[in-house]
This record gives sequence, structure tokens and C-alpha cells, in this order.
Amino acid sequence: MHSQHSTAGADRAPRVFDVIIAGCGPTGAMLAAELRLHDVSVLVLEKETEPASFVRIVGLHIRSLELMAMRGLLERVLPRGRRRPAGGFFAAIPKPAPEDLDSAYAYLLGIPQPVIERLLEEHALELGAQVRRGRPVTGLEQDEEGVTVELADGERLRSRYLVGCDGARSTVRGLLGVGFPGEPSRTDTLMGEMRVGVPPEEIAAKVAEISVSRFWLRPFGEGVYSVLVPAAGVSDRAEPPTLEDFKRQLRAIAGTDFGVHSPRWMSRFGDATRLAERYRTGRVLLAGDAAHIHPPTGGQGLNLGVQDAFNLGWKLAAQIRGWAPETLLDTYHAERHPVAEAVLENTRAQMELTSTEPGPQAVRRLLTELMDFDQVNRHLIEKITAIGIRYDFGAGPDLLGRRLRDIELGQGHLYGLLHSGRGLLLDRTERLTAGGWSDRVDHLADPTAELDVPCLLLRPDGHVAWIGDDQQDLNDHLTRWFGKPAG
Ligand SMILES: Cc1cc2nc3c(=O)[nH]c(=O)nc-3n(C[C@H](O)[C@H](O)[C@H](O)COP(=O)(O)OP(=O)(O)OC[C@H]3O[C@@H](n4cnc5c(N)ncnc54)[C@H](O)[C@@H]3O)c2cc1C
Repeated sequence: MHSQHSTAGADRAPRVFDVIIAGCGPTGAMLAAELRLHDVSVLVLEKETEPASFVRIVGLHIRSLELMAMRGLLERVLPRGRRRPAGGFFAAIPKPAPEDLDSAYAYLLGIPQPVIERLLEEHALELGAQVRRGRPVTGLEQDEEGVTVELADGERLRSRYLVGCDGARSTVRGLLGVGFPGEPSRTDTLMGEMRVGVPPEEIAAKVAEISVSRFWLRPFGEGVYSVLVPAAGVSDRAEPPTLEDFKRQLRAIAGTDFGVHSPRWMSRFGDATRLAERYRTGRVLLAGDAAHIHPPTGGQGLNLGVQDAFNLGWKLAAQIRGWAPETLLDTYHAERHPVAEAVLENTRAQMELTSTEPGPQAVRRLLTELMDFDQVNRHLIEKITAIGIRYDFGAGPDLLGRRLRDIELGQGHLYGLLHSGRGLLLDRTERLTAGGWSDRVDHLADPTAELDVPCLLLRPDGHVAWIGDDQQDLNDHLTRWFGKPAG
């Protein structure tokens, strides 16, 4: 089998893609772009004919902003969102973040989900990914050489790998028979955007009075409000919520329905918490909500998915380009499964802390007190923002396995040098070399770099893969992460 990188012969010969991605949500779009950095042919198949139009505001946390900066996307993303302080997200406990968080991008960016999705899709398209809409994946079969992907209209396509980025109800995960253990949803919440019939001051005063978890009315401007209210009394979960459901629930909690009318969109979400048993089944992988679901407390889901894509992209590209060390692709599960497990754990804890029962309320008060200790607050913020992640690369200094923050270099800043998605040898000794790996790893000799180690090797996802000053040791680690040297 060979893969074609040009579209020229597409009508004549059956096209074989390097990678087919099911789902063009934020995870699928990010993955497509990451693969295209390495000239891997990518087709994204998306079920919906049009991009999502509802305006749910999501928060991009620090690590996601760092990823955007590492690929030159931050300038595009920032003007489309609203900067907010990084703190106050763990169970919505309103503690400000410590001032010296270890990042050049220590804030949160609130941005409508369709806007970030569109930006990521545009980025993938610009890099040469193909996106076909209205094409749901319905079947798959894999053999030693690739995957046959079946679409709803019976068309069959071929690729070397398939990645299911097709969301919480993932068809790909279902077809693989991968288990999705965890807890079903127990509490449902209604969320929507609508106009109100009373003045803003009246709403603000009423909302301030009520201490119920999962309840808010937040102004979006022009008389439109984001409304969140528990769905306890709404019985039929299979049906989409109605305006009447919102009104009834608001009256039950606030004693008034605030005259809500003209909804833009209405939805319901639960607190189901589940994690795929494995992220890789031969030539088929899972990422994003297809691999993990949890309640939206802390606003982590989209961030987690985009970060999965960032971890997987260069590894899958290496596999396809033929230089991947044998175990590289399996490190995707080894690294990302525990990260998702930790997110599921923290959302379980946060859900407990938002309960209005006296016990959880007492624990919440205690935790609020504990967060006055800088280290406690910092620990929780590093969890939510994903800057505290340390992959297990074996014994070594604390920085090994962590992501490196953006730092100043003699010639600009570090993240500005990472746009191409290659590895980087950052060398203060000026006597080391990336030698036979120079087609995969850039070398920057800079004695002025803001580092307190002599030299380090960064993977394309910005995690520190080696620290030291010995060329032979470096060569061993270059081989470990980037395969055999060329030539
Ligand atoms: C109320 C609420 C608030 C949230 N707030 C935040 C927040 O503040 N921060 C945050 O990080 N996250 C937040 N999230 C979570 C976030 O929305 C999701 O985690 C994120 O959308 C997951 O992205 P994804 O690309 O993995 O999956 P999705 O966004 O679900 O995308 C999957 C795509 O696959 C397509 N698809 C499905 N089946 C098929 C098929 N068979 N073939 C082809 N395509 C298919 C779908 O149409 C869809 O476009 C929130 C979620 C909710 C419900």
C-alpha cells in the first residue's frame, strides 16, 4: 500500500489516506493540523453538515494557551476571546491564583466553543487537511496494513490509521468494542442562552441571594443571558429541554422565571464519568471525549481533548513517516490515560464539593480555608490548567517529563521556535549536536537561555525528554524518542 499526497489522481485511483479522523470537533481539528505539520495525508470525516452554531463559552486554560503559542495560533485566538484570571475554577471556589504561576500565559481565555473549533479547523485546512462534512463514519475493519472505513452512504475509504475523535457517544469506540467503564449520570443540568424580561439589576440581586449549586444567569450582552439551572424536575431525559422546562426550574429555585423567552439554544448535560479502557486498538486510536467524559466542572474537557491531540499527532506522524521507535505510539495511551484518569478524579471531587448537602458544604468550607495556603491553591490550579503534568520518563530531575514553560532566548522566545512541530535540542554548552537526527530535531546553541540546566531535549509537544551534557547519553535519548539517526 502507498499513500498519495496529491489530490491529482483522486478520481482515477482509490485514494489511501495516511490518517482518517472521525469527527471535526476541537480534538479532531487539532489532530489533523498536528499531522499535517509532518506532511501526513489527512481526511477528516464529520457527521454534521454545518459547524455547530450554539454559543457555549468554554475556557482555554494555561496549557492550551501554551499549545496555541507553540503553533503560532495565539495571536489569532486572543482577539476572539476574553481574558480572565486563571484562578477560581476548582469547584468554582473563588480564590485568586498565586501571582507567580509558572507560565508566560497565566490566564484563562473565555471563548465561544464554535469560534475555537472554527479557528482550529481553518488552521488544519490551511496546512492541507481535507474535511468532508455530512459524512458520518458507520463501520470499520482493520487488517495488518490499514483500516477500511465505511460511511453512512456505503462508501468505503482506506487509511493506514483511523482516529476516533467523534465525541462522547463515539461510533468508533463502539465499533472497536472498547469498554467505557465509569459512572452513569446522576444529576442533570439545563443550560441555554435566552432573552430575559426583567432588568439586569433585578436579576443580579436575585442571583446573589441564592446559594444553589449549578445555578446562574450570566449576561452575554444585548439582553441575552446564559442560564444554568438544575434539571431535577425534568423527567424525560431523551427529549431536548423546552423553554417551559427552564421556566419551571427557575421558578422552583428563584421563585421567578425572570421572564425568559426567545432561546438561542437549550441543552442538558449530566455528570456521567467514564474512561475508555484503551486508547489504541491496533491501527485505530481514540482521543478527546471519545476516550473520556466527565462533568464540565472546572472547564477541562475541550482542553484535555486538544492536549490528547497534541500528544498523539507527532507520534502518529512518526509512525507513518517510518522513523518512530517501536514503542512510541503506545506511549500515547501510557501518558494520556493517566492524565484523563486524574481529570475524572478531580471532577468527581468537584461535583461532591458543589453539592448543597451539609457534609459536602462543610468539606468545601474546609478546602476554601486550606486554599489560603499557597501550595494547596497552586496544586489545584496546576491540576485544572494542566501545567502540573509530569509524564513518567524514568528517574531524573523534576523537570524531566514536564512541559517547559515559554522562556526568553537570545533570539526571541522559545515557543516561537516550535511552530513546525519538530523536536528541539536547547543547548547552553554549545558543544553538543543533534547530528543524524537533524531532519527531525532542531538544534539551538544559546548560552544565554533562561535555564538552570546545561542542555535539554524537547519533544514536539514541548515536554522535556532529556536533561544533561553528555553527547553519548543524548544520542541514546534521541534514539529513544526520535528513532535511528538518518544515513
Ligand atoms: C455545558 C458544557 C460546558 C463545557 N465547558 C467547557 C469548558 O469551559 N472548557 C472545556 O475545556 N470543555 C468544556 N466542555 C467540554 C467540551 O465541550 C468537550 O469536552 C469538547 O467538545 C470535546 O471535544 P471533542 O472534539 O473531543 O468532541 P466533540 O466536540 O463532541 O466533537 C466530536 C465531533 O464528532 C462528530 N461525530 C460524531 N459521531 C461521528 C461519526 N460517527 N462520524 C463522524 N463524525 C462524528 C460530531 O458531530 C462532532 O463534531 C463543556 C461541555 C459542556 C456540556
